[in-house]
Amino acid sequence: MNNKKGAFLIFIGHHSLILIFLTTLLLFETGELQGQKPFEGKSVMAVFAHPDDESTIAPILARYTREGAKVYLVIVTDGRYGTNDFHDHIAGETLVVTRKEEMKCAANQLGAELIHLDYHDQLKADEGYDGHVPYARAIILELKDIIQRIRPDVLITWGPDGGSTHMDHRLVGASVTQVYLSSEWQKPMYLFFYGTPTESIDDADTKTLRGQHKKYLRTKISYSVADLRTAFDSYKCHYSQIDPNLTKEEFMNRRNKNERIIYLRKFEAPSKDADSVFE
Ligand SMILES: [Zn+2]
Repeated sequence: MNNKKGAFLIFIGHHSLILIFLTTLLLFETGELQGQKPFEGKSVMAVFAHPDDESTIAPILARYTREGAKVYLVIVTDGRYGTNDFHDHIAGETLVVTRKEEMKCAANQLGAELIHLDYHDQLKADEGYDGHVPYARAIILELKDIIQRIRPDVLITWGPDGGSTHMDHRLVGASVTQVYLSSEWQKPMYLFFYGTPTESIDDADTKTLRGQHKKYLRTKISYSVADLRTAFDSYKCHYSQIDPNLTKEEFMNRRNKNERIIYLRKFEAPSKDADSVFE
């Protein structure tokens, strides 16, 4: 090796060291080497009825994305009947196009992979048994295919209250539960239902309609102010559904009242066989 070549290699060597140093610094900055992404390799699948239902748990979806988990968002219906007092949209195909775009935007903001199915809002309830029941069966079978293909570690959906007693919410929650119960999943998969503590509801009838006693809501997921901001940015995507004057501050204050916690009820299977109902 002549001196020039040696000097050149030392030069390269120094630069490599500097490069390694800078890369390490960058990785520390982004948290890659600090173990700040504890759920890398894990996956969460949230299954809801309508575009914008996911806003119910959006802050924790933002949190899990931030913490490295892969988040899937399955939205079953097209939201074609989502008219409201804020806007003068007409129910039907045009609104479907709008809501599909809005849903893409909302999922992007959360960093979630969106699977938006094409079932009609209200699940053909107006067509009675012959219209609705085959439709409801198709949903269960399609959800089974999706869940089987992706095999998430965690499923989150509506509980029996459906948040608002909406039939689509309750049916989607029941469909996910049915898919879950119909198989012995080889890989552990946990099922959670979104819940509202009865203590946070004032009206007695509403407590019964959509509240759950805290003793059942034992999974309490906290989230950061930054996650809440992400949830707001996602919520704003659903422009056709929201008050255009809603400010970030109002949204944040409303959600901050809940101490930035989302309550879930974990599905628990019996741990042993029994030969009596009185145990
Ligand atoms: Zn809904």
